[in-house]
Amino acid sequence: MKEILIAGGGIGGLAAALALARKGRKVRVLEKAAEFGEIGYGIQMGPNVARMLERLGVLKALESTSVFPEALIFADALSNEEISRISLGKAFVARYKFRYFVIHRRDLHGGLLEACRQREEIVLQSSSGLKNFTQQGDTVTITCENGAIHEGCALIGAEGLWSPTRQSVIGDGAPRMAGHYVYRGVVPDEQIVDRSRINTMTIWGGPDLHMVQYRLRGGAVMNNVATIASRRFRKSDANAGAADELEEMFSRTHPGVRDNLRYVSRERNWVLHDRDPATNWTSGSVTLLGDAAHPTLQYLAQGAQMAIEDGVVLAEKVAAAGEDYNRAFLAYQRERMNRSARVVLSSRFFGEYIHVDGGARELRNELARGRDPDNPWEVDWLYRGIEVNDKL
Ligand SMILES: Cc1cc2nc3c(=O)[nH]c(=O)nc-3n(C[C@H](O)[C@H](O)[C@H](O)COP(=O)(O)OP(=O)(O)OC[C@H]3O[C@@H](n4cnc5c(N)ncnc54)[C@H](O)[C@@H]3O)c2cc1C
Repeated sequence: MKEILIAGGGIGGLAAALALARKGRKVRVLEKAAEFGEIGYGIQMGPNVARMLERLGVLKALESTSVFPEALIFADALSNEEISRISLGKAFVARYKFRYFVIHRRDLHGGLLEACRQREEIVLQSSSGLKNFTQQGDTVTITCENGAIHEGCALIGAEGLWSPTRQSVIGDGAPRMAGHYVYRGVVPDEQIVDRSRINTMTIWGGPDLHMVQYRLRGGAVMNNVATIASRRFRKSDANAGAADELEEMFSRTHPGVRDNLRYVSRERNWVLHDRDPATNWTSGSVTLLGDAAHPTLQYLAQGAQMAIEDGVVLAEKVAAAGEDYNRAFLAYQRERMNRSARVVLSSRFFGEYIHVDGGARELRNELARGRDPDNPWEVDWLYRGIEVNDKL
């Protein structure tokens, strides 16, 4: 049996490799970086993905390093008032069967990597960035940046936002810059001064900005994320998103919110991108997965979760289609396209919703104040998850 080649050993590539190996397929994961790894910040995981991680056999191991917040809180960044909350207790678990949790990216990636290392069907190869590929008959041949050549029966492009495989399959150029800039920081828990919401995932929304806080690693550290929808970006200013703009934009926020800026590093920022949903991401025996297929803004915190769901669905379709990878990949994209598109478009909407000012802010807060903490209606479609066929 020929190998399935996966370009990209991020969360999506590893989840796909594991899912395929569990269906008995041989897989080679080619990662561009010198080592398989992830950057050190937090990531939110909804019950939809917890279900997938259980299916991949890694949920239990990941739980030991996760934190299970008691609520998701939305607060107003100008007043520091709690506007609404979603309880993550019994009613939530009864509804979705799985818990919501937050985890250090390294722990999530490391858990998937460890599980991949345990499978003899999987070869993990670093320093192997995909440069280009060709398809002939039932063989896909890829050339790596280091000149190495690999042949397989299929290729899954999981190289993230700047995927070269996407450029061959869709050819739609660079992703869309949203003009949003993110600063992050993970600090020891004891440094956190305001402990009033310590066991929650709190998001403070304000005019063109927001701040997120939740604890990681059993509560040992606090993850802090500050985002601005840069006004300078809208004016094509070369200094868009710089640290002084972060300070400037947060200067209007409540002192209790502004104070949290001390926990984020100014050393680097993340420039957010997404893409309009595509109508096809498969060509013959080549397909895309995760951010390569449907990059999204982080406002629903679902990019990595969609990548993991992709991997599980893709493996099911491969198992059902035998050696017909084109059929499998078309069935996979059919199942994933609208759900991932809804995440992309809803994330844009949520970004706007939390960033409003003036009368729109008053209206948002008034409507949100009345919500039932036990009815997360706006993410219900998402958290209910996807159908998976346990027989395959
Ligand atoms: C600020 C922020 C917060 C976020 N929060 C959340 C959250 O809470 N929950 C959530 O689910 N998602 C979140 N996301 C989104 C999430 O990080 C991404 O959706 C997810 O990492 C996508 O995984 P991926 O494997 O598709 O791509 P990536 O993580 O980008 O992995 C791609 C891999 O491919 C490798 N690569 C690149 N080029 C090549 C090449 N040519 N050949 C081979 N390998 C290559 C890279 O080195 C990398 O290892 C957030 C994103 C941001 C920016």
